[in-house]
Amino acid sequence: MTQPVSSDCRPTPTIEDYLAVMYVMDRDGEEIVAARLAESLEVSAPTVTVTLKRMERDGWIAGEGRRGVRLTEAGLEAARSVIRRHMLTEWMLARMLHVPLSRIHDEAHAIEHSISDEIEARMRSNLDDPHTCPHGNPLPGYEAAAADWLPLTEALNGERGILRRIHETAEANPELMHFLEANQIFPGVQVQVVENLAVNQTVTLAIGERQVTLGFSIARYLFMEKN
Ligand SMILES: [Zn+2]
Ligand SMILES: [Zn+2]
Repeated sequence: MTQPVSSDCRPTPTIEDYLAVMYVMDRDGEEIVAARLAESLEVSAPTVTVTLKRMERDGWIAGEGRRGVRLTEAGLEAARSVIRRHMLTEWMLARMLHVPLSRIHDEAHAIEHSISDEIEARMRSNLDDPHTCPHGNPLPGYEAAAADWLPLTEALNGERGILRRIHETAEANPELMHFLEANQIFPGVQVQVVENLAVNQTVTLAIGERQVTLGFSIARYLFMEKN
């Protein structure tokens, strides 16, 4: 693992937000393009353009190539740092303060930028060095932990498993998180795929005695470990 970015030379909170979103897109093999950033960060396209210019000037990203924007080594390091602080804060809120799973992302988002390296190190050891966040997304450097988990859109009829992960895109959507929470769909729960109906773009899950039907637009962000 690379050394954490010192608290003194971190980018601003806005730039940290951009870097974190870019890191996840790049990790998932998606192109980092302005339109997707505007959507994820809920800002206008012109704002993204201006911010990207600033980020390039400051050495966090390198210019648009064929695959869109790319993070520099400094940008990658800064992204890993803020994502780690975000995920550790989520654990702290969940475990110590018992904040519901649907709310920890937004709460952590407001806190993560102000955590120093020293506090991050203390959180990490006190939380027993977690490899994923409470939603099951891997901490930077631990991507292998999630590699074998299957998106529900790819699960076959009758397959059973443990739900392991709610993707970053879904955890940042409060409405969706409330829906999942109300239906007791969270990491650790045992599920069975009753029917994956590609023609209808739906997956019906059995969770205990209950059945829940999800559209592919949600199911693609939920991952299970087969058993
Ligand atoms: Zn989060
Ligand atoms: Zn999370």
